[in-house]
Amino acid sequence: STRARIVILGGGAAGMAMANRLARRLDGARILLVEPREIHHYQPGWTLVACGAWQPEQTLRPNADFVPRGIEWSRQSAVGIDADNRRVSLSDGSIAEYDYLVVATGLQLNYHLIDGMSPDLVGNHGIGSVYAGLESAGRTRQAIDEWIAEGGGRGLFTAPATPVKCAGAPIKMAFITLSQIRKSGHRDDFQLDYLTPSQAMFSQPWVNAFLKQRFDEEGIERRHQYQLSAIDPGARQAEFTFIGSAGDFNTHRTGRQPELGREGEMTEVIDYRFIHVVPPMSAPDFIRESGLIAKDGLFRGEWLDTDIHTLQHNRYPEVFGIGDVIGAPINKTAASVKAQAPVVEANLVAQLQGLAPTARHNGYTSCPLITDIGKAMLVEFGYDNDMAFLPSFSFIDPKEESWVAWVLKDYLLQPAYYAMLEGLA
Ligand code: FAD
Repeated sequence: STRARIVILGGGAAGMAMANRLARRLDGARILLVEPREIHHYQPGWTLVACGAWQPEQTLRPNADFVPRGIEWSRQSAVGIDADNRRVSLSDGSIAEYDYLVVATGLQLNYHLIDGMSPDLVGNHGIGSVYAGLESAGRTRQAIDEWIAEGGGRGLFTAPATPVKCAGAPIKMAFITLSQIRKSGHRDDFQLDYLTPSQAMFSQPWVNAFLKQRFDEEGIERRHQYQLSAIDPGARQAEFTFIGSAGDFNTHRTGRQPELGREGEMTEVIDYRFIHVVPPMSAPDFIRESGLIAKDGLFRGEWLDTDIHTLQHNRYPEVFGIGDVIGAPINKTAASVKAQAPVVEANLVAQLQGLAPTARHNGYTSCPLITDIGKAMLVEFGYDNDMAFLPSFSFIDPKEESWVAWVLKDYLLQPAYYAMLEGLA
């Protein structure tokens, strides 16, 4: 039994799973869950809404279904963390003091870093973005339908330079759209370009090789080292900054008005009829402004400073991070949260008992990569590339696109996800 005060920031996939686990595990603990939303969003369903396979309602459940008994649920937002004094300030001006803190706020979508872009534009002017929320997923579908009804033209699919949640989603959107274009019978009238700041399509080598080949076979043009910097919605033009060398830029560019742009940047303006925008992502601003943000290294200023294996904060041992907010090279998926939750539970309890945190997260990431409507690949991997993949379903060959993997994404993952929120499995 303990009287420790535990504050959990965020009650999404990670925070809700932790609330249930800790409520069950720790007799007498005073647990405060800070989550402003009444409704839980099953985000993996947004791609299925965007391709018309699901109705929006299928992704919604009241948070009250999942909040465990015996804990306190604050409907405020956290607005500041004073890590030295173990205090969190909430949006109503109140302060929550803690002995242990679990940061599970998810990540922030930084649409504002793309000039001219706002999530409110999604669904208009040929702009789609499956990330902006459930409504945007539906409006993305409409924008794709409108483009297809126009009968042709160029569509751009972008990726940002930051880590993203569900790294497969930007790619899935290109495949889903292509699948719909093919059904229209006018494939040859449409051009699809995939533009990414990276030299690769995906972090895992064999998935990268597979995707490059698939894109080439399908005639989706890959343009590497291209970062979306601005859009002009009315004119349907997007400006990309080329982040490679000037020599490479001259061989790669195909759009109009290539120029050595602002402050010597190499920019290219491309006309489109449809664009799928994936914004840069980071930890929420109030975390970036707190002492908990990474101070150096790869995640500096952008992500929570946690040990990627123990998920304990690198400087504040009473703080743990879980889910999309942590500084880690991969694993921003709900499937990763499932693997992280028992690790955070074990290490927080160890810390509480004055023991060393020994549980370790291996970076497990899983991504059902939709390659066509009705077909998917289940891609699984961890921090250690040598693991290559960690297949948990022996009947699915992860290197084969299959209907079985689609069924898994379409029907089976959601019940497993809700069980995770309840702290089971
Ligand atoms: P979230 O689930 O986003 O929850 C964060 C919570 O914190 C929210 O409830 C929010 O209201 C709350 N919050 C935010 N700020 C504050 C604050 N200041 N104070 C208090 N509370 C706050 N994963 C898969 O495993 N498989 C997939 O196929 C898949 N597909 C995806 C497709 C799309 C389009 C998207 C967007 C995501 C997909 N994911 C997928 C990723 C998955 O949804 C996330 O990785 C997962 O939800 C992360 O959980 P989290 O708790 O860290 O963040």
